[in-house]
Amino acid sequence: MKKHNFSSGPAILPQSVFAQAAEAIRELPGTGLSILEISHRSPAFTKILEEAIELPKVLLGLDDSYEVLYLTGGASSQFYMVPMNLLDQQDKAAYVDTGTWSTKAIKEAQLFGGVEILASSKADHFNHIPKNYSTPVGLKYLHLTSNNTIIGTQYKEWPKVDCPIVVDMSSDIFSRPMDLKPLGLIYAGAQKNLGPAGTTMVIVKKDLLGKVERAIPTMLNYQTHIDKKSSFNTPPVFPIYVAMLNLRWIQEQGGLVEMEKRNQRKAKLIYEMVDHYDIFRGSVRKEDRSIMNATFFLAKPELDDVFYQMCTEANISTIKGHRTVGGFRASMYNAMPYESVEVLADLMQKFAKKYAG
Ligand code: PMP
Repeated sequence: MKKHNFSSGPAILPQSVFAQAAEAIRELPGTGLSILEISHRSPAFTKILEEAIELPKVLLGLDDSYEVLYLTGGASSQFYMVPMNLLDQQDKAAYVDTGTWSTKAIKEAQLFGGVEILASSKADHFNHIPKNYSTPVGLKYLHLTSNNTIIGTQYKEWPKVDCPIVVDMSSDIFSRPMDLKPLGLIYAGAQKNLGPAGTTMVIVKKDLLGKVERAIPTMLNYQTHIDKKSSFNTPPVFPIYVAMLNLRWIQEQGGLVEMEKRNQRKAKLIYEMVDHYDIFRGSVRKEDRSIMNATFFLAKPELDDVFYQMCTEANISTIKGHRTVGGFRASMYNAMPYESVEVLADLMQKFAKKYAG
């Protein structure tokens, strides 16, 4: 029996996507060849890439002012590509520090221009999303991390600012409809809610580009990948194929409205357990809780191993919190079935009743 996979990433994808991906390794339908051996310039892959570029536009409702790119180097490479392409040395960008990933993005941006840390929840162990800060005028962009995979916080709405917002959506892209109008650039490592590790999606508003004075290496220039439709060099053919299958699945299931409905329902089940039983302690402020990564601690940490053992026996995989924070984390991306979340919720209830008091 397959395990209930609560991994934060690489993570669960729909079982039907795994089946089609496995089949395509044997033979990509209609080609007589494996997806792993076809040219990235073949008609078959050109069609796949076109669909992989089109589907995000349809699902997110993007107009033609945005371009969808499939790059490599992980979301971590976007920490430097964003400022390299958008921020000159004399310019200023603002960042909100909501945890490990924003902190890393800030460090890279400081190599390229002025960086103002507008707000940070560091003093509170990143247990909330900072709000109600004022933004200076003349910013090139404001950078946010929409879902903080490690700590388990998530933006419910964007701050109101008069500059474009750049968002690291690595762990909640395609999980819910969001107002995209204020956004100038979105990036996401694929390996959570989009596809396998190996490609990074960038969605960029074209009119933000071409404004910096520095020379940008060809491969690190967004314009290169726009002009060459993500095929300047050999793109990661297989991850793009699987991402396309997953995007098709999202569309067939009813799009982002349906994804959000399912994700809310799953997260509610776990947070109800966390709130109902004293043995569990939620890690972050309720209003900022992530519907993708639900994090909690045990009030009696000496029972951590017992809880973990019970999870293992129930076929629940990868439920430990990130090594830097401890506790537990249930990552419940789009493909996570409600039934798997019920298994975890039932187990939490049993555990709470047994070890109460
Ligand atoms: N940003 C966020 C929000 C993440 O969760 C991660 C990975 N866990 C990253 C960035 C880094 O992604 P990558 O490993 O693709 O560089």
